[in-house]
Amino acid sequence: MPTPFPSRQAAQTSWSGAATTKPTTHNSEWRCTRCDKLLGVCRDGRMHLRFARGHEYLVGFPVQATCRGCGTLNNATAPAR
Ligand SMILES: [Zn+2]
Repeated sequence: MPTPFPSRQAAQTSWSGAATTKPTTHNSEWRCTRCDKLLGVCRDGRMHLRFARGHEYLVGFPVQATCRGCGTLNNATAPAR
């Protein structure tokens, strides 16, 4: 019986081939200042926040959000360029 390997390929998103699938290449990530957890992605001058269960929010600046990991209140005053 073949042993199923852990899906290493699925978890490992290829950095080099990202440009081929997504047209928007320059998305600046908003990360927690303490634990570096990804809080949202800045796009088109707004912050795109993603939460569990498919809840997504597109908010304008300034934006504040608490980190899911460590609970630190993060503040973004302007879209990063
Ligand atoms: Zn954090």
